Amino acid sequence: MVVEIVRIPVLNDNYVWLVHEPESNEVMVVDPAVADPVMAAAAERGWAITQIWNTHWHPDHTGGNEAIKAATGCTITGPEAEKDRIPTLDVMVKEGDSVSLGPVTADVIDVPAHTAGHIAYHFASENVAFVGDTLFAMGCGRLFEGTPGQMFENMRKLEKLPEDTAVYCAHEYTEANGRYALVAEPDNDELAERMRDVVAMRERGEATVPTTIGLEKATNPFMRARSIEELAERRAAKDAF
Ligand code: ZN
Ligand code: FE
Repeated sequence: MVVEIVRIPVLNDNYVWLVHEPESNEVMVVDPAVADPVMAAAAERGWAITQIWNTHWHPDHTGGNEAIKAATGCTITGPEAEKDRIPTLDVMVKEGDSVSLGPVTADVIDVPAHTAGHIAYHFASENVAFVGDTLFAMGCGRLFEGTPGQMFENMRKLEKLPEDTAVYCAHEYTEANGRYALVAEPDNDELAERMRDVVAMRERGEATVPTTIGLEKATNPFMRARSIEELAERRAAKDAF
């Protein structure tokens, strides 16, 4: 991996990701919920933010756009399908497009369902994916603007990435997700073992993100749902859990 990735915990449980590409010295922020802690984290390292990449329009992913752009003049890239809901966008992208951070490039993957235009960014050369609120550790995003069928399709796209792909999601929801996952799959030994690790990590105050595609294939009840119906059932059960 060439890029350096810094986790910035903000609000209740959001993670903003600061990504530095050393050759070009480009610095990109994924989903800045807020501006100040992000700019402070960059300044601490002597980094100048050059780009923001948004995965979807929700305010806890775009709330820092305007202030960071005003302070740095950075370029903001985000989902074409949500351009009306993210007025600060400069560059609009969709599946099939790629976005560059200096010499490294990420492919855009359409993953609608949490919001209608949600996208993910996959850096194949770095083995890294930024998935916003679509895939979480042992969970998936709520279906605010889409269907179980769309989320099922998203899971099929993401499970095709290499198993050792590091998956950077936008919230620390792991422990709560795991508690539901244990109910959905009571006989999954790998899940039970993971949950023991997660509980211990959270007791020590540690973050559980990033996860990996391999770990999610083994323990995520939404990625593991065998049909649209099963995903729909599990999503409804988790919403009420
Ligand atoms: Zn969201
Ligand atoms: Fe969010």
